Amino acid sequence: MDVKISYSAKRKKTVSARLEGDVLHVLAPSTINKQRLDSMIEGFKEKVLRKKIKKELNRQNSLEKIAAKLNSRYFGNSLNVGSVEYSTSQNKRYGSCNCLTGDIKISSRLRDVPEWVRDYVIVHEMAHIIEPNHGKNFYELVNKYKLAERARGYLMALGMNSGER
Ligand SMILES: [Zn+2]
Repeated sequence: MDVKISYSAKRKKTVSARLEGDVLHVLAPSTINKQRLDSMIEGFKEKVLRKKIKKELNRQNSLEKIAAKLNSRYFGNSLNVGSVEYSTSQNKRYGSCNCLTGDIKISSRLRDVPEWVRDYVIVHEMAHIIEPNHGKNFYELVNKYKLAERARGYLMALGMNSGER
């Protein structure tokens, strides 16, 4: 990614950036400290890159289709699943679920794990649509997935968890 910086004497504080093709256009006040600007540009680049990765991941690999299959196999198609997407902002946590909307986010770190591990994570997050907490009922739902225990071991070895307390 190339960076093109334009300085403006009129700008007071704010720095803005937008991506055009492969060029990041940055608009900065002419008085800005160079080091500060560099670190801001790094931040912009990272954000753009994350967005790109996320877009590519979600195009290649339709998690929603997988979730629909799992919904029919393990929940009798009873769940109202919202969007199911990879997220690039979850590194330690393997997934999260918004119980109200049924929207599920799966860590992009899981793009390279075996399918049965990824499927466990999706089942885990889907079960939260019924049971927000990690209680007995929750594990009864999740453990219908045959490889649940093994998948938990696999994820633990990666240093990832579900945010359980
Ligand atoms: Zn959980």
